This record gives sequence, C-alpha cells and structure tokens, in this order.
Amino acid sequence: MIDISAISVRRTATIHDALLKLDKAGFGMLLVLNAEGTFERTVTDGDIRRLLLQGCNMQDSLASLAKIESIVLRDGYTQKEALALMNEKAINHLPVLDGEGLVIKVLERKELDEQILLSTPHMGSWEREFVDEAFKTNWIAPLGPNVDAFEREVADHVGVRHAAALASGTAAIHLALVILGVQRGDTVFCASLTFSASANPIAYQGAEPVFIDSEPDSWNMSPVALEKAFAHAAKAGKMPKAVIVVNLYGQSADMDPIMELCNRYGVPMVEDAAESLGARYKGRASGSFGVMGIYSFNGNKIITTSGGGMLVSDNEDYIRQARFLSTQARDPAPHYEHTRIGYNYRMSNILAGVGRGQIRVLDERVASRRRVYDRYRQGLADCPQLQWMPEPQWSYSTHWLTACTVDPARSALTSSEVIGKLAGDHIEARPVWKPMHMQPVFSQCLSFDHGDRSVSADLFANGICLPSGSNMADAQQDRIIESIRTILG
Ligand SMILES: *Cc1c(COP(=O)(O)O)cnc(C)c1O
Repeated sequence: MIDISAISVRRTATIHDALLKLDKAGFGMLLVLNAEGTFERTVTDGDIRRLLLQGCNMQDSLASLAKIESIVLRDGYTQKEALALMNEKAINHLPVLDGEGLVIKVLERKELDEQILLSTPHMGSWEREFVDEAFKTNWIAPLGPNVDAFEREVADHVGVRHAAALASGTAAIHLALVILGVQRGDTVFCASLTFSASANPIAYQGAEPVFIDSEPDSWNMSPVALEKAFAHAAKAGKMPKAVIVVNLYGQSADMDPIMELCNRYGVPMVEDAAESLGARYKGRASGSFGVMGIYSFNGNKIITTSGGGMLVSDNEDYIRQARFLSTQARDPAPHYEHTRIGYNYRMSNILAGVGRGQIRVLDERVASRRRVYDRYRQGLADCPQLQWMPEPQWSYSTHWLTACTVDPARSALTSSEVIGKLAGDHIEARPVWKPMHMQPVFSQCLSFDHGDRSVSADLFANGICLPSGSNMADAQQDRIIESIRTILG
C-alpha cells in the first residue's frame, strides 16, 4: 500500500520542497492538495520541469500549476474498471477519492494486473540440498536413500508405522484397491464430493463405484448416507470391497461414526488424505485412520514433490506389497520372473529429496493456510452472502483451500458469476468439486444422499474455492478481499 502522506503536497508548497518530496518518495508523482486537504491534481517530474522552463524558480510555489482535471477514481470502482482506465490513459497510478474529495488510496498498476493463483508450489530452503546429494551420488533412479528417508519421515510425522513413496496419490489409491483385492464385478463406496482421482482407480480395477453424499457439518462423507448405502448393500447381499473416505480441502471426515459403520459391516476403509496432510481428527493425524491412507504431493497440494504420492499403513504386509507392485512385481529370481501384474508407480530418489525438504516445513505451511482462512473470514465477516466451510470442534483442518458458499437467497449473484468477476480482476477462484455422481462418466452409478436432497450437489452449485497459497502475500489477499466486497456490493 502506498503511504499517501509521503506523496502529498499542498499547493502552497515551494517547487524546491515538492522536488525534495518527489525525490524521497521515488514515485515519479505527487498528489497536490488544496487548503482543505482535498485533491486538486497530480504533479509529475515533467510538470515541474516545465514550470522551471517557463521561468519559475525553486522558491516559487506550485500555485502556477494549471488547474487541470486529473484522472481519478471514485470509491466503489471495480479493479477491472481501474485497470481499463489505466490502459486507456496509459498511466500506472490512480488516486481514489471519497465523496468529500479526500484521497483514500493510490492504486498501482502492478497490484491490479498480477494474476493471483489458487494454490502454487512453495519451496523451502532444504530441498536443493537433498536433490544435490542425489546428483552427487548419482542416485537419480527410483529407490535410494532419499526415498527410504522420506518414507520414514512421513510415517513418523503422521504416526503410522509404514509408508511407500509412489509416483502419485492416484497410484497410491490404485495400489490400495489392488492390495484389498478389488476386482471386476466388485463395488467400492466412495465419497461423491471429491476430485475424480479418488474414484478413477475403482474403474481401473473394473469395479463399480457407489457414491456417498456429504454432510453439511464437515462437507465430507455423510455417515447417514453411508448407513443407507450399507443397508442397501446388505439387503442386496452384496457388500462393497472397500470404502474410500475423502478429507476435503484439508479437513478430516467425521471418522468415529464412519469407522463404526465400516467395522460393523466388516468393510475396510481407505483414507484419501491427498488434501489433508497435516490435518487432525480429535488430535490424531488425518490419513492414519484407514487400513491404508494416501497422500498426494502434486504441485498444488500443501507440500509437493512436483508430483508424487505416499501410501501409509500400520500393516507391514500391505506396504511390502505396495513396494513390490509399484516396481513391476518382480519375483525374486536372477532373471525377470512375474507371477502378478505389476506397475511402474515408484517415486524417484530425486523427487523424494524435494519431499524431504518439504516435510520439514509442513507445519509452517499448515499454519500459513490456516491464517489465510482466518483472514478471509475476518475481512469478509460482514458479507452475509457468504457461508464458510465449517470446521467442526473435532477438526483441525489445514484449510488447504479456503472454501465458502454463496447463499442464493441473499446474493444477487451466483457463485459462478462471482468466480467470473474475480477472473476479471485476475484472481483465480474455482467452483467446489463437481460431485462424482453428477459426472457424465459415472452417470450409471448408484449414489446415496444425506437427506431429501443431495448436499454435495448444493455445495457444487453454490461453492467457491478462493486462492489459498501458503506463499500468498497479505497485500494480495487484501486485494482479493476488496474485490469480493466490491463484487458482492
Ligand atoms: C490431488 C488428489 C488426488 C490425486 O493425487 P495425485 O497425486 O494428483 O495423483 C486424489 N484425491 C484427492 C481428493 C485429491 O485432491
């Protein structure tokens, strides 16, 4: 933010003093104010040069400046209008005036046309060291000391015994299903409100997904809908082979009732914690509840290896199988011997080095994302159109993405209109995940709602994810907040 007093002069000031101020502010432009302190015009280096060339001397006042109409904005402008005006007039700064003619701020082009992205990679200071070490020792290929150490570090961080570092979170989900014996003709229950990567591996195995709705309190899998699905499966005499629970936007699902149902029906739970590394449920790490849990280190996730994933479990045999299957399922033999179908799913030693640097700053990244969420809530507290993704008492969310809904009863604009207007202000916001039961590719699949209507469908209809990167500057977030306030009116 530009300090207005540092670039303001009275019309009675001398040319000498104005030049001093111009020089000190290093801004190329001053605001000329009249006796009442209201805005008169701007003055540039060039304007003063012309005064001197006209014969003024350094002790003359700025009074000889012509009374021109400077280009200004009135409060209530949109960022898009501001930028259009700057482009039209070929200027880089614009004073903004209130109703009394007082300058309330000066807009800079660079703060208006910089694109703010949803979530970008945020490197720490350790990654290079681990990657350099891999280069020095020529340990570039899959496997190596960084892979072993990264597995140990993630397992220790989340309090699970074993971990296998893989090429992606999707690969981790796929292997979990392979290990649980999911095959053609089976069904697998899966949260509906999620990214397609949660459900695609079910199809890779030729099995049928059954989609479970969200509950309003956590936006995650509804125990009510899950119970309906289990009751239906029991009646049909066909139990699912697994339940995939997703922890959305960094928040755990309500594990106690979900685990109780899975245990009651004797179905193993796989926890898709791709978005929730660092989150907790009743104090325990997200991702540590299922028979297997998965994390993602994709570029947009809370920490990243540029691409990668991890399968974790207390069951040593599961993780041994994951390592075997992810390296082409080679049986012990001097030649290449295979009794099972394998995959090329292992993480490389280089990328594990990036991961080792990233895991060291995970707690900081979580704290930053939580702060982003808090600042949105504070900055937009008086916008009744917005409802924030709730954080139940039992949840410690990473707020990987800050998500909210736009109440159609209170807002003149729909969530997609708000997203469109934010895009006009160079701000990348996204809709909430489109539920899997609404996806054309899964349109034949069975799904179970929380109540009379689909909670996940409503969240999709009204939801917005806001830029939430741990490396977003406060000034960028303030720009987003201001933009949303203007858009909502
Ligand atoms: C990102 C993501 C995945 C997939 O992880 P990748 O590492 O990109 O394969 C799976 N599930 C959810 C919920 C995700 O957000």
